[in-house]
Amino acid sequence: MKTIIEPFRIKSVEPIRMTNRAERLVYLENAHYNLFALDSEHVIIDLLTDSGTSSMSANQWAAIMRGDESYAGSPSYDKFKKAVNHLMPFTHIIPTHQGRAAEKILFTIIGGPGKYILNNTHFDTTRANIEYTGATAVDLVIEEGKNPSLYHPFKGNMDIAKLEAFIKEKGVENIPMVMLTITNNSGGGQPVSMQNIQETKYICMKYGIPLFIDACRFAENAWFIKQREPGYAEVPVETIVQEMFSYADGCTMSAKKDALVNIGGWLAMNDSTWAEAARNLLILTEGFPTYGGLAGRDLEAMAVGLEEVVQEDYLHYRISSTQYLGEHLTKAGIPIVTPAGGHAIYIDARNMLPHIGPLKYPGQSLAIEMYLHAGIRACEIGTVMFGAQADGTEKAAPMDLVRLAIPRRVYTQSHIDYVIEALTEINANKAQLSGYQISWQPKQLRHFSARFEPIKNEAKRKEAFKNAFAEAEK
Ligand SMILES: *Cc1c(COP(=O)(O)O)cnc(C)c1O
Repeated sequence: MKTIIEPFRIKSVEPIRMTNRAERLVYLENAHYNLFALDSEHVIIDLLTDSGTSSMSANQWAAIMRGDESYAGSPSYDKFKKAVNHLMPFTHIIPTHQGRAAEKILFTIIGGPGKYILNNTHFDTTRANIEYTGATAVDLVIEEGKNPSLYHPFKGNMDIAKLEAFIKEKGVENIPMVMLTITNNSGGGQPVSMQNIQETKYICMKYGIPLFIDACRFAENAWFIKQREPGYAEVPVETIVQEMFSYADGCTMSAKKDALVNIGGWLAMNDSTWAEAARNLLILTEGFPTYGGLAGRDLEAMAVGLEEVVQEDYLHYRISSTQYLGEHLTKAGIPIVTPAGGHAIYIDARNMLPHIGPLKYPGQSLAIEMYLHAGIRACEIGTVMFGAQADGTEKAAPMDLVRLAIPRRVYTQSHIDYVIEALTEINANKAQLSGYQISWQPKQLRHFSARFEPIKNEAKRKEAFKNAFAEAEK
């Protein structure tokens, strides 16, 4: 059979409220054209993020009822630890409320001024937690990984030559850790090959530097290895996952991704000295080491989620449905980052809307039109997110993308067909789309709360921008 069906039936449904364009225009104006400010009830298809938006299975909901809420020594922790250890053989498994809490603890221990943490590409919260300690976060992804239209099977790979050169230049004593983010979220959800994990480990061993994995999408990465890397087609995904982690000395994890739950995470490692320091910090910020900022029931749901996420029927459907969206958008003539990543499709809005310059936010313009036209919410990843400079000016980000992140087990093929139809229609009338200007913005992370308005008078756009920033300075 060619049709890949959702490998689940639906037992409990969550209604979607339909809206029309006139209603959506009102919601959008009230939200000052910022999609983060919309009520989610006013969204028909929500592709803002794949983080914490998964549907849990009947087995996970059953496990929720089995959660033991004892303060210390809960059997739910044992189940959680056993499930993690089945895939990731680390000695110390420290639960946290989400991924960034694990990062905060880890970098508090190993970071600090003068230190460098090397990664294929740091995720935003990872970078922020490293920089907060005064250390420097360095991205060393292969050159192919930076070219959106180029095909490469493992665009998330670490550049091994650059890695070694960097270690030699800055000195082993200043590099407490090398990391690999799998899949590479900030680089478009692109996978890292097993060979690259091995080569990274080889360099780390040569210089005596620990290798940690930012493991958020480990199962999706393993599926790509099975599909694309010679020698793995017949290897079970579980075995691939076990091999991936066998090369690492620890990991950070956001369970909101590949543990199929709505909240949770962990920090894992073999080093007992670091683990002791981590548990001491955990007690300050998260809680006792057998629950770490979570309820016993959350630990149970993660344990079941970890069994389900490596099932091959699930991964086949998961990665195929993302690819299905990518292929149909390409057929409709919409430029996307290729190849399709695991958890999201990224539309190249700058390329799609060449009549809207980067400082008029083509990504924001497309995301707004997707909402107005069909009630679809996506996320601009471009000049709105990265363009603001410390001195109050702005410049074009390297790319203007719109990310369509696919929640796990939430939408069916007809929902995705609806997205394809909407984008095809928008593409046919794309000359009608126009740019936006910012009428108010905060000093930092402006994409979450900035206010926008359609550009009415080009001559006044720059002046309006200056005023928007001056307002925030007050
Ligand atoms: C989501 C994510 C994180 C942070 O996890 P949270 O649970 O959101 O705190 C870290 N790294 C990567 C690659 C992620 O995708």
